[in-house]
Amino acid sequence: MSTVPQIDLSRSDSVIALRREFHHYPESAWTEYRTTCRVVELLTALSIPVRYGAAIHSRPHMYGLPSPAEDAAALERARQAGCDGALLSAMAGGYTGCVAIIDGGHPGKTIAIRVDLDCNTLSESADDDRLPVREGFASCRDGFMHACGHDGHAAIGLRLAAELWERRQEIHGQVRIIFQPAEEGLGGGASLVEAGVLDGVEILLGSHISMGLTPVGTVAAGTHGFLASTKIDVLIHGRGAHAGVCPEEGRNALAAAAAAVTNLLAISRTGQGASRINIGSLIAKAGRNVIPPEAKLSLETRGATDEINRYMEDAALRVIDAAAAMYGCTAEHRIMGRGGCTGSSPELAARVAEILEQVPGVDKILPSFDFRASEDITTMMQRVRSQGGQATELIFGAAIAAPHHSERFDFDESVLPLAVRSLMTLVLSL
Ligand SMILES: [Zn+2]
Repeated sequence: MSTVPQIDLSRSDSVIALRREFHHYPESAWTEYRTTCRVVELLTALSIPVRYGAAIHSRPHMYGLPSPAEDAAALERARQAGCDGALLSAMAGGYTGCVAIIDGGHPGKTIAIRVDLDCNTLSESADDDRLPVREGFASCRDGFMHACGHDGHAAIGLRLAAELWERRQEIHGQVRIIFQPAEEGLGGGASLVEAGVLDGVEILLGSHISMGLTPVGTVAAGTHGFLASTKIDVLIHGRGAHAGVCPEEGRNALAAAAAAVTNLLAISRTGQGASRINIGSLIAKAGRNVIPPEAKLSLETRGATDEINRYMEDAALRVIDAAAAMYGCTAEHRIMGRGGCTGSSPELAARVAEILEQVPGVDKILPSFDFRASEDITTMMQRVRSQGGQATELIFGAAIAAPHHSERFDFDESVLPLAVRSLMTLVLSL
């Protein structure tokens, strides 16, 4: 990319410069074209082998893709930002993200490290008491912001790749660094898994910055309490008609959607454990004197186990179909994301905790962290487990300026070099 500052990945402070660059150019799920190009270019400049494009994805499992028009706009934006045309062509259609592959100097295990790339869809606060504003790296896109720390995760992955590459003679086995697109909304994990990116992986390490854990130096070696979740878009088809002349010929999609909403919230809870349901939007629009022919709902279910989430998902789809039928309409559902609820492998988390004790700067180690949300890493953890491997998600403590997914979110950047050092030590020791 010609229009961006040079970053020397071999310098330890490059991780902060990279984080700020990614923060400045946030891209949401499946449109991480500029971000992926930057990652691929920096890896390629060091001669690190990298896979990207359709080869690392499974089209039927790319949940929640943007519309073709949104995709074209994102590609154009990346082109304007100076991204390489051939790279962009290879990714067009949402095939974002990439996998760096480092073969060590000795035979051994296959370890995967997963980082994510996407931003959230909200506008960043322009208050000038905030570091991103003061230092001039706040989001350049209204309505889009790295408000979860994935800008930091991408930077950690890059700097880690550079360090591991330099020390590849010391590595036993293969290291794959997975730069995952579309984590928010649980859209990207299944696609990478089904394309075989995790095949043969014996150890999987994921990590997240903060999630409320503070300060820098406190690290959780494992995670539990992930909620399984399904994201569903619903389109209710009715029939438009003149509301005065012949309302009986209409089929009111808005009424069906409204009935669905109140009954979704009334789904009987299960005694098996915690469950959630939320309807985030209901869109139906017609003239005042027109029977609304179409309505859209977006909702999500969650559960403390896969079974509980499945119970909520099945009940939700039944309610939607029945509410549509009640008004003579039909409902079409699209699964936009799905994540499981598996926690860290206890033996691996214990081993990670032991190794972290040697890492300078790590002064408090928690055996496990209660996540209380959903994370796409679980889809990858389940695959690695199903093939006999082990997986854990680490949490690197860091003070945050405001909660995750809020407009004033920011985190203590000194967590970045510490996370690189920790993951580096883990790869070399495991
Ligand atoms: Zn996140």
